[in-house]
Amino acid sequence: MKSSLVILYHREPYDETVENGVTRYLPKKSPNGIVPTLKSFFSNVSQGTWIAWKQVNAKQRAHFQERVEVEGEGNYNVRRIPLTADQVKHFYHITSKEAFWPILHSFPYHFTYETSDWENFKTINLMFAEAACDEAADDALIWVHDYNLWLAPGYIRQMKPDARIAFFHHTPFPSVDIFNILPWREAIVDSLLCCDIVGFHIPRYSENFVNVARSVREVEVVKTSSVPEHITPVGTALAEPEMISQLRYKGQLVNVDAFPVGTNPEYILSVVNAEDTKKRLEEIKSELGDVKLIVAAGRVDYVKGNRELLEAYGRLLERRQDLHGKVKLVMTCVQAASGMRVYKTAQNQIEQLVGKINGRFATLDWQPIMLFTQPVPFADLMCYYKAADICWTTPLRDGLNLVAKEYVITHEKGDGALILSEFVGAAVEMPEAILTNPYSMDKMDDAIDKALEMPIEERKERMAKMYDTVTKYDVKYWGDRLFEIFEHTQHETTEKKEPAAV
Ligand code: UDP
Repeated sequence: MKSSLVILYHREPYDETVENGVTRYLPKKSPNGIVPTLKSFFSNVSQGTWIAWKQVNAKQRAHFQERVEVEGEGNYNVRRIPLTADQVKHFYHITSKEAFWPILHSFPYHFTYETSDWENFKTINLMFAEAACDEAADDALIWVHDYNLWLAPGYIRQMKPDARIAFFHHTPFPSVDIFNILPWREAIVDSLLCCDIVGFHIPRYSENFVNVARSVREVEVVKTSSVPEHITPVGTALAEPEMISQLRYKGQLVNVDAFPVGTNPEYILSVVNAEDTKKRLEEIKSELGDVKLIVAAGRVDYVKGNRELLEAYGRLLERRQDLHGKVKLVMTCVQAASGMRVYKTAQNQIEQLVGKINGRFATLDWQPIMLFTQPVPFADLMCYYKAADICWTTPLRDGLNLVAKEYVITHEKGDGALILSEFVGAAVEMPEAILTNPYSMDKMDDAIDKALEMPIEERKERMAKMYDTVTKYDVKYWGDRLFEIFEHTQHETTEKKEPAAV
């Protein structure tokens, strides 16, 4: 039976275990993230398919099981694309991370062209598209995720002219001047213009995409819409008052939309309120005594602004002797898995700065920074969030920033303060945060001073407003929004499509 819903996502939606020599595919243990939400859509259809890649060596390839079923989740199959280590390296770690990632995050300085393997990128996107078309019914709904699969919609449209194709971008989308640095811009835009819906976190990103499309192709603007009130706080760096919401290109009607991914508040609260977590929280609080806790959570990545944050913290301790022994920064900076030089440099920089600050200010009974370079388990992270007086999350650029939303939820309208970069998608949803510009030392200094001095009533008021926002616009809201658009979208085309220019 062909599938009426096909989801293309780089991660597999199961936990793989081997018991007594038998491989088992079990439902993912953690109900966090978007995977459970995406999977929940399969319950609306009689048959669905999830497509993901899987790294295999020559021996594994010989016995490779292309299609697997997750135990207890019978209404969809997982179709796996077997990739060699070399294909993964070039697709994922080099072309995606060294060429696309810096451009998407507006860091053209880090853009590396020479090492990119565009042919390999095309091949893997074609493999995804062929698998999708193989699985999908003619009028299926095919939902492609993220920039790693930029070319998949174009290939799918050639093979399945009547499919409904949606694409969601999980990263920022940069301005036209930056995006057009990509030498493959026409091929990417042509493919995205084969979609019935292209979704982004916020209107600024969708507007950027529209401007890119208009700069490289003769695209007709069909509809402009005002932006929903909860994401238009004029005055913030990423605000847009209105957005172009429909385009036409070569007969294809392309809906463009912006709806930020949310979190799963029920799950987060169930973790926070579990007995074990409460016990751990009490321990952390008693260890801290009257020391104010600041939490900063994220990955090692130059886009995350870890250096700027640490430098601001160093300046704070330099300026305010009265805070010595009275504040502690817990920073999780999960190291990147691959051996990429740019991440190694970022990590060295973080470790050196932490060493420098601790070396300069620590006393026998006070260490100003506690750094974790290994992932902190989710439940422990929730404890740190809950215990923290301040969450400091100031990336130079970030598609959304879930950390900010998670911090707000754990405080359940109680006391807390969120310092948030103006350059992350979540900033347009949460103007009540202490918004700051991580590129400016003065603004960063002002932000931490403000967080430390803000009266408790104001802190609570801001946290309560943000709590209402993040619990209303949660991950379910995000998924439902897309599905609703899907239900009202028929694939509309007035011309026969030419093959995408890839
Ligand atoms: N996270 C975690 N352990 C850590 C650091 C982060 O579980 O030590 C989780 C965090 O709770 C959040 C995610 O990783 O859900 C990071 O998401 P975000 O959108 O902030 O950044 P991304 O890594 O996707 O750029």
